[in-house]
Formats: sequence, structure tokens, C-alpha cells
Amino acid sequence: MTVQFSVLVGGLHVPLHECDWIRRAPCGCATAICSARIAGAVLATEDDAWHEFYEDAGTKRHREAAIRAAKKAGFTVEMNTVHNAVTALMTPCTHGKAAPAQPDPTDPFNEDQP
Ligand SMILES: [Zn+2]
Repeated sequence: MTVQFSVLVGGLHVPLHECDWIRRAPCGCATAICSARIAGAVLATEDDAWHEFYEDAGTKRHREAAIRAAKKAGFTVEMNTVHNAVTALMTPCTHGKAAPAQPDPTDPFNEDQP
């Protein structure tokens, strides 16, 4: 038996292997994408995606803090087709000061964060 996961995107069922997670800044622009399937694992939930995006944030405590900070700052994650995710990531942000400040406020090692 073969099990195939699909995702409802814009009313259409899209196979999971054709989907990516998108992390969006508070202005709505994409700041990162990751595959919904990595090394045989399925990133099926938003929580899975958050943890993948902040996998390199250090210890588990740092990672959880980075995720909380990102959510508090207004970052979001969503699943979409690979095509839409890549297109979103390649689209430059034109929101000026509404764009994420540099350095990244979600960086747990950034001592300037509130
Ligand atoms: Zn933007």
C-alpha cells in the first residue's frame, strides 16, 4: 500500500512533495522557505515548520526562544506549492521600514531585541 499525503492549497489537493513551507515577515514578504519533506521526514504542521526554520538557532531553549520571538514579531509560516514558495522568496520586499529590521529581530543571539 502506498500512502500519499496531499495539501489543500487554494482549493486544490497538491501532493506534499510539491509543497514548501514559507516563512513570512510581518510585512507579508517571504524571508525563507523549506521543503515539506526533508530527508524522508514530513513537515506536516506549522510547528514542524517553525522548528525546521530555527533548527540552527542553538540549543532547544534557544530555538524555542527564537520561535517565540519570531511569532511575537509577527512572522508567520504557511504551506504552499513549491512554485509559489520560490516565486514569493524571489520577490524583493518593497515595504521599506515595514520590512524586517537588520539584524534579524528573531535572532536569539541578538542582544538588541526587546
Ligand atoms: Zn515586505
